[in-house]
Amino acid sequence: MTSSYNLGGAEAQPKHPNTTLSLSSSSHTTSPSSASAGSLVSNQTSITTTQKQRTEQRRCFGWAARNYNHHTFGGHTRIGNCARRPIGSNIALKRTENGTVHASGLMQCGSVHACPPCAAKIRYQRATEIDHKAKAHLEPGGGLVFLTVTLPHTLSENLADLWDVVAKAWSQIITGKAYYGNKTTTGAKEEFGIVGFIRAFDLTHSPTTGWHPHLHVLIFLNKPITELDDEFWELKAWFRHRWTTRIGNLTGKTVHDTFGVHAESVKNASGVGTYVSKINMELARSDLKKARAYGSRTPFQILEAAIDLRHPNDRRLWVEYVSASKGRQIITITKNLKQMYPPEEVEQSDEEIANAKQEGDTELLINRSVWRHIADRHPKLIAQIISAQQNEGATQVFRIIHHKLWWTVFDTTGDIPQIKPKQRKPEQWL
Ligand SMILES: [Zn+2]
Repeated sequence: MTSSYNLGGAEAQPKHPNTTLSLSSSSHTTSPSSASAGSLVSNQTSITTTQKQRTEQRRCFGWAARNYNHHTFGGHTRIGNCARRPIGSNIALKRTENGTVHASGLMQCGSVHACPPCAAKIRYQRATEIDHKAKAHLEPGGGLVFLTVTLPHTLSENLADLWDVVAKAWSQIITGKAYYGNKTTTGAKEEFGIVGFIRAFDLTHSPTTGWHPHLHVLIFLNKPITELDDEFWELKAWFRHRWTTRIGNLTGKTVHDTFGVHAESVKNASGVGTYVSKINMELARSDLKKARAYGSRTPFQILEAAIDLRHPNDRRLWVEYVSASKGRQIITITKNLKQMYPPEEVEQSDEEIANAKQEGDTELLINRSVWRHIADRHPKLIAQIISAQQNEGATQVFRIIHHKLWWTVFDTTGDIPQIKPKQRKPEQWL
């Protein structure tokens, strides 16, 4: 098993837009009569506090990451300009049903690789799509196998080359006679009843062995399969042989017997999308020290360390990762699976997902010139401003902004309060 198998723990669960803080507005207004109901209430309170803290941590990390990308790659790049450019004349601070506040009305970069807030939205959406396809396939009697393949790597190897090898090796596996067969021989596709694949690229970095690229592949089969079937082991052996040969031909390296190829059957589709799409790359902050001291880190853990600890090596790794990942797809779904199990709603591109209008009631408007000034000069205030709106309200937000930008005013004459630049009267111009 690869280290990536440990990433699915509760600490690393994704931010689900509808679950964060969902327990805060308790419906237990009547006093619970039983002791067990009483403990449920206190348990809910503690969950709420933890969730609140996680939301705050995620928000701080997200805005700090955007700021770091801005300074590292420049405002002229897409990732360096995420959430800095207002679309209209105002930014709206909106509160969703679950009580969290977000800033709406900003251009988002839509990078699934390099931008934690955009990646979270995209991966969440993709996970939902994968869950839907997996469920639609398993229910009427299809089979699913979850395959992970990796290759040997050393500290000196650069990521772009390793990424190329993984992509090339996989595309060679599922082409040609061995896979499709010909007039005289049956290929693996027909032999095992392979319907299609969902493939996700995953990556960690170890201080001793360097970049560790691996592929998670969900294999869709036309009949049910479990580890009790001989065919499962034959399928695994076929992929092991093909992967080992391809990697051998491309790199001259020998794939590890135990860790190189791992397979397991999927009996229950729920949660498989979350696992495949690795939403949990959005890390829990508490993991940082542990990961740094003992082992492999995800790219976002490297980014977090680069922001917090300012170690030049972490910055170098982050820059290498961003440049190597540019233009590459992280999750691919074969065409026939898209046709067999079309998404419940219209399929969106990464950029469309990141820029989709977020629901919520607008509580405060911040004029675009005020926002741009904050984003350029005081970017660290943004997370604080949104948290202040969430926990204390618009007056507190104005206090924070006005402390730095004395030329702003709080206009409460309209339906929705607004923070805007002070209009000087003509007599004050002189
Ligand atoms: Zn972004």
